[in-house]
Amino acid sequence: MLFRTHIVFSVLVYLIIVRYLAIGSPIVFGIFLILATMFVDIDSRNSKMGKRFYFRPIQWIVKHRGIFHSLLFGLLISVIIAAVHSWAGVGFFVGYVSHLFMDCFTRSGVKVFWPVYNKKISFGWVRSGGVAEDVIFVLLLLLNLWLVWVWIVLS
Ligand SMILES: [Zn+2]
Repeated sequence: MLFRTHIVFSVLVYLIIVRYLAIGSPIVFGIFLILATMFVDIDSRNSKMGKRFYFRPIQWIVKHRGIFHSLLFGLLISVIIAAVHSWAGVGFFVGYVSHLFMDCFTRSGVKVFWPVYNKKISFGWVRSGGVAEDVIFVLLLLLNLWLVWVWIVLS
């Protein structure tokens, strides 16, 4: 999935969580949620984030949609972050999960449960960067704008 699709989905997740759950530091939570969403794809040199030269060494070590695309790895980093700031860690984990969830809609899928279950999980047929993804992106964007309007502007 493209960077922008991951972002709009994570914003949606953020809006819903902040609306319905008591988040101690919503801003820190939100920043780390978005950071995690962006972070996962640094394992790909074709992704918006992974294109940056300083992520190259990471791509020499791990393959795209490998360890970085596993819940276990996300949890590990989140726990380390949570040791410094708990809401930052929680936000990071939520962002991580939202990224992996979206990638499961792609045909190629991801090994979300590696190393416990070493097969790719895919419950979709979306091709990264294809027309279906464009449609999903626009729908999510409109939904976000509508929720911001109803929940924040009108309240
Ligand atoms: Zn990804």
